[in-house]
Amino acid sequence: MRKVTITQRWLINNLGVIAAMLFALVVAGSLFVRNYYYSSAKQYLTSRMNMVSNLLQRSYNDPSASFSAEVRTIVENWSEKDKMELMVVNAQNSVDLTSSGFIPESGDSMPDYTEAQSSGTSGYYTGRISSGEKVMSVCLMLPQNSAGYTAIRMVTSMGEVDRHIFSITALLSAVCLLILILVVTSGIYFIKSIAIPVRQIGSTARRYAMGDFSVRITKKNDDEIGELCDIVNHMASELALSESMKNEFISSVSHELRTPLTAIKGWAETIGSMPDDAETVAKGMRVIGSESERLSQMVEELLDFSRMQNGRFTLNKSTMDILAELGDAVLIYTEKARREGIDVIYDEPDMLPFVYGDKNRLRQVFINVIDNAIKYSDKGGIVSIQALMSDAEHIEIDISDTGCGISPKDLPKVKTKFYKANHTRRGSGIGLAVADEIIEMHGGKLEIYSEQGKGTTVTIILPVQK
Ligand code: ADP
Repeated sequence: MRKVTITQRWLINNLGVIAAMLFALVVAGSLFVRNYYYSSAKQYLTSRMNMVSNLLQRSYNDPSASFSAEVRTIVENWSEKDKMELMVVNAQNSVDLTSSGFIPESGDSMPDYTEAQSSGTSGYYTGRISSGEKVMSVCLMLPQNSAGYTAIRMVTSMGEVDRHIFSITALLSAVCLLILILVVTSGIYFIKSIAIPVRQIGSTARRYAMGDFSVRITKKNDDEIGELCDIVNHMASELALSESMKNEFISSVSHELRTPLTAIKGWAETIGSMPDDAETVAKGMRVIGSESERLSQMVEELLDFSRMQNGRFTLNKSTMDILAELGDAVLIYTEKARREGIDVIYDEPDMLPFVYGDKNRLRQVFINVIDNAIKYSDKGGIVSIQALMSDAEHIEIDISDTGCGISPKDLPKVKTKFYKANHTRRGSGIGLAVADEIIEMHGGKLEIYSEQGKGTTVTIILPVQK
């Protein structure tokens, strides 16, 4: 289907309406002007006719005056000869006297006279006469016995009036046309200022859809379109970042999976080649066991992450002792930390209220955070863990380290999936995202405070069971 552009829609919707309105204005204006001029002319003719009629009335009523002579005098001395013609019609229905001196041909029709005859008083006519000239005429019947005269007529040419009306209409049309041109010019400028950037945004978005995030849209104005450009540019940056994070995630995960697999494969081959060396077999089996455990933990974390993405991640909640799970996690990592020259100090409180939660998931969170604290610390570092009541209804668990810390630029993003601030250490970049989600699902909060080069504190707040 052929698409309708914004410009075309504007032309149809707005310009069409404006043009129709202006056309109606011209038509109504010219009709009004014509009406005004014609009724003024008619009024003027009638007033002059009344004046003549008054004069004649006086002479008609005066027995000493000659009515016929009076009629002649009035017609011959008619002072407005240039504006209108005064005519007198006789009993033979033909014009007998005119103020101009020219008697019209006897066949000329006189619709005003015909109308006056039938009404018995007066008649009026506007239109063309046999000469083709446009005229306006009024006719007044004279009383009977008016010296052989039956009516007086006043006729004026409308040529001049029509020319006047035409000039006013032409002026009105010119003004409307000018308005239309102005509307079209400003409208086209306005539409272009929308249509061109929108087209640019469209073509840029198409490139994003094909995976090319290198282009950016240049913002021209600080308006809604400008804002849209900013949003699209920001979206492209975010997409580019998420694309690179995803690629990095795939490579880190493959790497993470490969390391234990290499160890398992290596030890399996070693054991295979010396099945009788009990010491080697025992050591190999230990390594295979711990590396398999690491692998399954990693796969578990990936599965949890994938469940979270699909919204299928559920908790198995029960009344639980948070100190037992934290103690377990600390125990698992103390030995590992010691091997790496890192001290784990756990200030275990005697007792804390119960929490209603999923103990395996919460232990998983503690393991994750403690693992990070050790992973991002160097030899000689200290990881301190404490658990306390932050207020009457919340338990607070702080896990602090003296490691590399996180830069202020990275700090707000470390809880984002795939985000890795530190690429020198192993890790998939989803550990904190998963931990944060689990804590949130318990109605708690996971906050990170860090100073680059000094260390990091992860604070977990959980509500106690009511
Ligand atoms: P990873 O598997 O990369 O550790 P996480 O989601 O657990 O992923 O952490 C995200 C990022 O946060 C890490 O890449 C790291 O840069 C930073 N980070 C997390 N914990 C710490 C910490 N204790 N000290 C310094 N940086 C940390």
